[in-house]
This record gives sequence, C-alpha cells and structure tokens, in this order.
Amino acid sequence: MGLTSNSSALDKQFDVIIVGAGIGGLTCASWLALQGKKVVVLEKNGFIGGRCASYTKQGFTVDYGIHAFSLGAKGPLQEVVRAAESRLKKDTPPLLWQRFPIVLKFHQNVFRPTLPISYSHFWNLFRTVGIVLSMKGTKRSDKFALLKSMFGLLKLRIGRQIPLESLNVQEMLQKFSASEVAQQIIASSSDCVSAIPSNRFVARDFMDIMFNILKNGGIWYPKGGCGAIARAYSGIIEGCGGSVLTDHAVEEIMVEEDPDPNVPPHIVGVKLKNEDKVISAPCVVANIHYRELYENLLKKRFFPDSLVKKVNALETALSAIVLHIALDTEVYAEKFVMDSPMLLTKDSYKSGSNRTPGGMFVITSNFDHDLAPPGKQLVIAGLGVDPALIHEKNAFVQILLEKLQKLAPPSIQIKDHIEWMDMLGPAEIESLFGEKGAVIGIASTVQQARSKRMGSRTPVNGLYHCGDDSGIDLWGVGTELAAKSGRNCAKLILNEEW
Ligand SMILES: Cc1cc2nc3c(=O)[nH]c(=O)nc-3n(C[C@H](O)[C@H](O)[C@H](O)COP(=O)(O)OP(=O)(O)OC[C@H]3O[C@@H](n4cnc5c(N)ncnc54)[C@H](O)[C@@H]3O)c2cc1C
Repeated sequence: MGLTSNSSALDKQFDVIIVGAGIGGLTCASWLALQGKKVVVLEKNGFIGGRCASYTKQGFTVDYGIHAFSLGAKGPLQEVVRAAESRLKKDTPPLLWQRFPIVLKFHQNVFRPTLPISYSHFWNLFRTVGIVLSMKGTKRSDKFALLKSMFGLLKLRIGRQIPLESLNVQEMLQKFSASEVAQQIIASSSDCVSAIPSNRFVARDFMDIMFNILKNGGIWYPKGGCGAIARAYSGIIEGCGGSVLTDHAVEEIMVEEDPDPNVPPHIVGVKLKNEDKVISAPCVVANIHYRELYENLLKKRFFPDSLVKKVNALETALSAIVLHIALDTEVYAEKFVMDSPMLLTKDSYKSGSNRTPGGMFVITSNFDHDLAPPGKQLVIAGLGVDPALIHEKNAFVQILLEKLQKLAPPSIQIKDHIEWMDMLGPAEIESLFGEKGAVIGIASTVQQARSKRMGSRTPVNGLYHCGDDSGIDLWGVGTELAAKSGRNCAKLILNEEW
C-alpha cells in the first residue's frame, strides 16, 4: 500500500485537505475520494487510525486503546467499505468482523446474556430472567428491582413516553427502582459506551446504543486488530488516486479575509509544521479535537463570541489507563469481559463510594490468532479514569493486574507469564491524540448531546470539522460516531459550494 511520509505527493492540486487520519478523517476522505474528489490526508503521527490504531511489537499486533465495536459489520464503520466494494476492483484490504458475546461481571456474578434480548425473542428474554434470579450474593429485592428496571427500559424503548434527551442515565434508572445494586449493574454498560459517569451520560444515547447492541446480538472486533479499519480506508483513498501522508503535522489552517466584512473568510490551504510551504486547496476538513482546531490551527480567530463561549465550555469524556500485556502462553478462554465499575472519577475515588474498581478486558488474540505468535496471548486491559487521578497510575495498574489474576484459572500465576507489558495512561494518550487524553472527545452529556453537538460546518467558508466531536444530532460509541460524522461531513461538502 502506498501509505507514505514522502512529501512529493503534495505537489498536486487538491480539492480537499483532511487534517488528521483518525477514523473520522479517513471515513470522510474515503467518501469524497469515491465521489471523484482529489483528497490528501495529513497525519502528524507516524501511523494512521488515531485513537483506533495498532502497533506491532515482538510478533504481537497491539491496539493502542482498548476497543470493542457496537455494530461492526452492520454499522457505520463498514458502510464506506461496502460502497467501495461495488466501485473498486483493486487489492483494497478487506475489513472483516467477528461478533462475540458479552461477559459482564458484577460482585461474584458472571452474566453471559444471550442476545438479542427483545420482546420478539421470548426465549432469550426468559433465559435472562433465569440468570438474574440465580445471581449469587445479591438480595432478592435487588434481583426483582433489576428485572423491573430491565422490563421498564424495554417498555420505554417501545413506548418512548418520556423525553430522554433531558435526562441522564441515573435519573432515568431511578424512575424504575431505588435499588442501587440494580442501578449499578445497568450503569456498568453505560460506563463502557460513554466513558463518563451515568449521572452525566444522556439517557437517549444510552438507550439507542444499548438497544442497537442487543438487537445486533453482541459486540464486534475486526480481523487484523483495530488498525485494520484505517488500513482498509487508506486503501480506498489511494485506490481512488488520493494520498494519506504520515509524519505531516499541520501547524496552521490558512484563511483569507475579504475586505467586505459581510463576506465570510474563506479557506486558502494549510501550512505544515516546520515548513514554509502552504499546500493550497479550497476546502479543509479538520479531524482534530474541536478546541484544538480553534486554539491551535485557527490561532483563536474567525469564530464569533457565541461559538468561542461554547468551545471554551466543552466538557470532555474521561481518559483511561490501558495495559497491553503479552503472555507467553494461552491463559484465557474469554474474548471480552466487563467487570463493573469501569470508571473512576475524582469524586468517587476520593470518597471511596465506589467498590473496588473493575475494568474492561479484551483478549484480542482470541478473536484473531494472528495478533499473537503461536501459543501466546495478547490481553488489553483498561479502566476509565479522570486525568486528575494520574498520580494514582501505579495503583490502577495493580488493580487491573489483580483483576486479571482473578479471571485466570487458579493454577496459573499471571505474573509468571508476562513476556512484556506496555502502559498507556492519560499523559500518553494526550501526547499522542490530544485533548486531555479523552477517550471519546466531547462528553455526551444532556447539555452537549444530539441537537447541542458541535456542527460540521464552521464560520469559515470551506472549513469543516469531522470526528467524534462533531455532527449535529449524531449518536453512537466513539469510532462509530466518528465514522458517521465523517460520512455526513463528506455529504455536506459534496452538496455545498466553497
Ligand atoms: C483507551 C480508549 C478506549 C476506547 N474504546 C473505544 C471502544 O471500545 N469503542 C469505540 O467505538 N471507541 C472507543 N474509543 C474511542 C475511539 O477510539 C475514538 O472515539 C475515535 O477513534 C475518534 O476518532 P476521530 O477521528 O474523531 O479522532 P482521532 O482518533 O483523535 O484522530 C484525530 C487524528 O488527528 C491527528 N492530528 C491531530 N492534530 C493534528 C495536526 N495538527 N496535524 C495533523 N494531524 C493531526 C491525530 O494524530 C489523530 O490521528 C476509545 C478510545 C480510547 C483512547
């Protein structure tokens, strides 16, 4: 594949420059390239995929973050690949997915919900009731409260009686029962898909995301690891004559102002870091964090006061501690385990109100054996944390390792089988991907979700934004949100004059 850091590819005329090769930027570029636009994607890092990328080490292919995908082959990440399949007959790398069941741990209970759960799948519904009633270490009243809440959510989904945009998940769950145990169990899946506490996450997004996961019967993971998604997109872009250039950091977006104050400023191109050259194009798409677009690349110009106020007030999601653990033997049979609670905020950690934190564990080499050398295993373990708790990093690493030990067969001591271990914390995520190391950019709170999200259009003519930070009315988990945003941004560009 022609992925390159060679700047000679820049001596062309471009219709659109995309700043950032995250999922949003690559999706947008792929849709535009398929429609015949001449595109170039400029990426500051030495790899593509942004927060959803992989690296290789000693025979292992490792995801930077810890990812599970809610819709996989049936969702927005696959749409552009499907569109390209009918157009391109080239050697574009395929994007193949595997679906897998969820394992949810709560206290000493392990749930393996049989999916899909819906009124139309009575047998699975019946089995779920059985699982809840046989939970160990949980009071009878809590079990019934959990069932009542689950049926309440199902009824709410069908009836849509209350305006869920104005409630957070905790407020919605309190309508069904006062049982904290029932609320915590349901909220654990909210933690996982939003990277913010349930008392901040908007109930409408929670409902849409969870019911789509349940309807589609599980969670997905791509063959080849997370990096396979970006590789497939870059294959589409290059197959259509576009370029994706790594090690090309953009320092400034170049804008020209009209002498007439009634005419909006318009895009001229971009200036690369440490180079004098301006790469010209009439249209630029920023796939970087929204605040960084305004503060760094636009040098705090061109936004009206109302927008500046909104940008300054943006609240981001929590960050994470992620361990990449290479094991010299195959220890785990599971593929994906959620051990509740998976988020630690400054308040919950200080007050000790949370039980011992759990974590999210993805044994990626159990999806795709090629991600680890034969007979070995790769585990990605993660915990959502407030960046302000960074000084507790070592304690969190210990918590994750202890949880991993508990998930292993009793005869195996995990520490004896660790070949190597890498750690990615808020500081590392921030230095690679920016904005306080946020897992899913701007938090989907009641104040910032759906109609209140940042738009893809900006006040500068020809300047657009895409990624998990933008796209009015969009919802979804990080990567899928970014892919929808990239797709919609491309449609907008194709329909507008600039
Ligand atoms: C630990 C962790 C766990 C996650 N878990 C999940 C999960 O389970 N499921 C899920 O769907 N999502 C998950 N996410 C979120 C998901 O990865 C992101 O929401 C998604 O990848 C964001 O894509 P994006 O295109 O918006 O931005 P990004 O991935 O941030 O891409 C932006 C790109 O722009 C580049 N860039 C920035 N500045 C410049 C510049 N000046 N010049 C050139 N390039 C620049 C960056 O290097 C980056 O490559 C997780 C993220 C993390 C960190």
